[in-house]
Amino acid sequence: MDDTFHITIIGAGLGGLCLAQSLRHAGIRFDVFERDDALDQRAQGYRIRIDAAGQHALSRAWTPEMDSIFHLAVSQATPNARFLDTNLVPVNAQAPDSWQEDGGPHDVSIHRQTLRELLMTGIEDRVHFGQAFEHYESIDDDRLRVALGNETSIETDVLVGADGVNSRVRAQLAPMAAPTTTGAVCIYGKTTPSSRAGLPEGTHVILADGCAAILEDMRFRSDLPSIAQGHGCRLSHVDDYLYWALVGTRWRLGLPDDLSVDARPFLARIAMTWHPTLRDALCDGDGTGIAMLPIRLGRPDVAWPRGRVTLLGDAIHAMSPAGGRGANTALEDAASLAAALARTSGCRDLSSALESYDTAMRARGHEAIAVSQAGTERLSGV
Ligand SMILES: Cc1cc2nc3c(=O)[nH]c(=O)nc-3n(C[C@H](O)[C@H](O)[C@H](O)COP(=O)(O)OP(=O)(O)OC[C@H]3O[C@@H](n4cnc5c(N)ncnc54)[C@H](O)[C@@H]3O)c2cc1C
Repeated sequence: MDDTFHITIIGAGLGGLCLAQSLRHAGIRFDVFERDDALDQRAQGYRIRIDAAGQHALSRAWTPEMDSIFHLAVSQATPNARFLDTNLVPVNAQAPDSWQEDGGPHDVSIHRQTLRELLMTGIEDRVHFGQAFEHYESIDDDRLRVALGNETSIETDVLVGADGVNSRVRAQLAPMAAPTTTGAVCIYGKTTPSSRAGLPEGTHVILADGCAAILEDMRFRSDLPSIAQGHGCRLSHVDDYLYWALVGTRWRLGLPDDLSVDARPFLARIAMTWHPTLRDALCDGDGTGIAMLPIRLGRPDVAWPRGRVTLLGDAIHAMSPAGGRGANTALEDAASLAAALARTSGCRDLSSALESYDTAMRARGHEAIAVSQAGTERLSGV
């Protein structure tokens, strides 16, 4: 253990919080700065599928006790997918290679906010909300000064940009690594559970012409918050829901350039000829909680100068959500960066620790982007 250096993490998303937990586990000093005013200021998404690699990274980040709470917190519904056409007739199709449904440790699905709450446990005093990263500068060869939004700054030994696809850390460190647009869009939301929406329970992949939708039941133990409380972990109650997401090209889906508009008229048009049950599931409610996002691909191939700044997760290797690899790769990054830092024997080794992490992260990110693209093509043909 070496506590002579300090790590600054920008972003309290899944990757940043997993890194923070992993550093805590390794006894390394850190602080996390998050732009949002609170963990629950906005829904950052709904269901998140965690594969074997993501589960392994989490198990290295926290205690076995936390790991068992994580496994109680996952959805109780089976994640195995049924492939259907838009009239709900079964079709022969293959899940993307990245979905692990049989054998080995299979994928589990968890509510994203629940996972973030779990990852906050025990580090509440080290995560600072309402503190947006602005820029950094070198103080000398080794230390950095990081400027935060409200005219505060912090001095640190290593800066990690875990600030997502629009990363400001990346914009300063490696402006050439800005993600590229693909022309594809993801629309997602949640609605009442299958039992009430008229669909059989489980996970359904709907293959349409030039787009695909996934609908997945999320069912949770009602006693989860009280069990977690008994272990010193504060989890909010989450009602069961039916998660859905749709992927296709902007052109095929008939979407405007401005994706901040109300999605419902577009969803109604996309699903106009679909089975009424599907149409109702997608178009249910008042539209709050539906998000439309362009799918962009990160550039982990672009190198940046050797030093004390690095990136993880979507900040450097954003990818299509259809492969279910983005968060898992961010968790793997967090575990491998923490391990590289824990192996150093002091401040003078930090640059080489980051270099070895960067090399492994670039290869992992590159492969995950390729697998996710292949999954997107298999499902939606885009
Ligand atoms: C609909 C959908 C479904 C998905 N499903 C899956 C799935 O099932 N499995 C999977 O593995 N992946 C999935 N993904 C991908 C996954 O969501 C991302 O890959 C993952 O969230 C990346 O984590 P991250 O920590 O790198 O970034 P983020 O989760 O984006 O977190 C970044 C954090 O940084 C903060 N931030 C941003 N700018 C600043 C700043 N200037 N200063 C301070 N803080 C800042 C943000 O507020 C945020 O909290 C899905 C994505 C979508 C859109």
